[in-house]
Amino acid sequence: MNVNLELTDHCNIRCRMCSQSLRDEAHGAPMRFMDFDTWRRALAGLEGLHDVHLCPHWLGEPTLHPHFDAFVEYAFAINGNNRIFRRFKLHTNAVILSPERSRRLLRLANGGGGERGTFEAIHFSIDAASAASYAFVKGADHGERVFRNVARFIELRGALPFPVVHLTMVVQEGNRHEARAFTQRWSDVLKAAGRPFRVTADWPPFDQDAVYLRRLNTGDQPLADAWHARACEDVGMAAQSRLPGSF
Ligand code: SF4
Repeated sequence: MNVNLELTDHCNIRCRMCSQSLRDEAHGAPMRFMDFDTWRRALAGLEGLHDVHLCPHWLGEPTLHPHFDAFVEYAFAINGNNRIFRRFKLHTNAVILSPERSRRLLRLANGGGGERGTFEAIHFSIDAASAASYAFVKGADHGERVFRNVARFIELRGALPFPVVHLTMVVQEGNRHEARAFTQRWSDVLKAAGRPFRVTADWPPFDQDAVYLRRLNTGDQPLADAWHARACEDVGMAAQSRLPGSF
């Protein structure tokens, strides 16, 4: 059972491809931050459900929540024997991923509450290889900071097994020319980290790191599919395929 408990529908950037960016009210209601009592009661309500996969995100940027760290700490603190959730996955744009936060997440992933591998993955929404394309696609000039934050997280993870990272670019008009550079950049980072990984055109499983060229969902799907197919071709991959990393 996939459970998305959205800590906030606020975001700190405005990606061109995201419905969150298109409206002031992502859910047709004023944007908010979840209060702790709602988080506590929602987690308590999961107890006894079978094989819950928890993600604290739907729209918005979860790490923007002023108490993100405390909320996640709490979730793992009460998750002994996986009594609340079996898997945990974080989606983030990595704009505010300090070394301290990275270390905290790594600690929770490698000894937090629950069985080994409970905190299985972080999906990093990066979407560009250059700062210029990042600014265009993401609506904010945070490219270099995000590239640094994600690379540092991978470096801090070192040989720790969890979480796996998915380094993602949603292929679209403003970044499709960078598919090869994006793939090369993050493949090089993962190679330097000594991790097995795959390059993929479709949602990656959680067994290893991945560089993921993601298809844009949009009103003009044939055009988005053509951009995606071309981007995959540029990196030597069929649009429906997963390629293993180069070692
Ligand atoms: S970072 Fe995520 S939530 Fe924020 S605008 Fe981009 S895609 Fe949407």
